[in-house]
Amino acid sequence: MMDDDIWLPLRHELERWKKAKLRPLFWLRDDDAVEPTPALDRLLALTKAHAVPVALAVIPAGAGKALAARLEEAPNATAVVHGWSHANHAAAGEKKQELGAHRPVDEVTWELRQGVARCAELFPGNFAPVLVPPWNRIDGNLIRCLPGLGFKALSVFGAANAANGEILPHINTHVDLMDWHGTRGGRPHGELVAAIVEQMQLRYEAGGGAIGILTHHLVHDEGAWTFLERLFSITANDEGNDWASISDLMVQRSMT
Ligand SMILES: [Zn+2]
Repeated sequence: MMDDDIWLPLRHELERWKKAKLRPLFWLRDDDAVEPTPALDRLLALTKAHAVPVALAVIPAGAGKALAARLEEAPNATAVVHGWSHANHAAAGEKKQELGAHRPVDEVTWELRQGVARCAELFPGNFAPVLVPPWNRIDGNLIRCLPGLGFKALSVFGAANAANGEILPHINTHVDLMDWHGTRGGRPHGELVAAIVEQMQLRYEAGGGAIGILTHHLVHDEGAWTFLERLFSITANDEGNDWASISDLMVQRSMT
């Protein structure tokens, strides 16, 4: 298929929204930042070129002044808390988790408290107190502790959980660019376009809600970078659509 044909379903869906005088709302979360790298530079340059805000999930235990200095020059990036050290505490054969029920709650909350404090200190001008659990998994009992630790929102992958949403707002991601279990590269563009269109159709029926795109700059292959570039060119440079910052979404207190 020609590249333009691959993107046609998205163009049609955008057109449908425009005709109905509706504006789709997208947001971008990128995970696992610890230090400045060429891949991070590429992400920040690409998002800046299209004026797309990015919530950068920073692993606090490993982050330091070098990342702080780099983000000072990236006003479109907002740091959020990606657990503490991205360590897996689940048993072999179990799904990976840092924030599971494998350790005493006090131990986990102590780490999360350090995580918020370190991010607030390193990124005073561009930090939002949002928790992004490593591997997008968190034990239900821990969620109850989050407001007391200073978190104002939680961001995982998939549809928001209404019960947990009463404890604190969810600002979730819905389309993951990477094929983690297959090629470990970017997913085929046609498949990603279909996933985004499906999310748009759900929002169209529901009368709103943001669509979260999830990326991992450190492991992108050229296909993933090209997809992001095309997605931004089609959606971000057109007045009918919005790319929101995580801070905007927190103000709206929308469940996504
Ligand atoms: Zn991660």
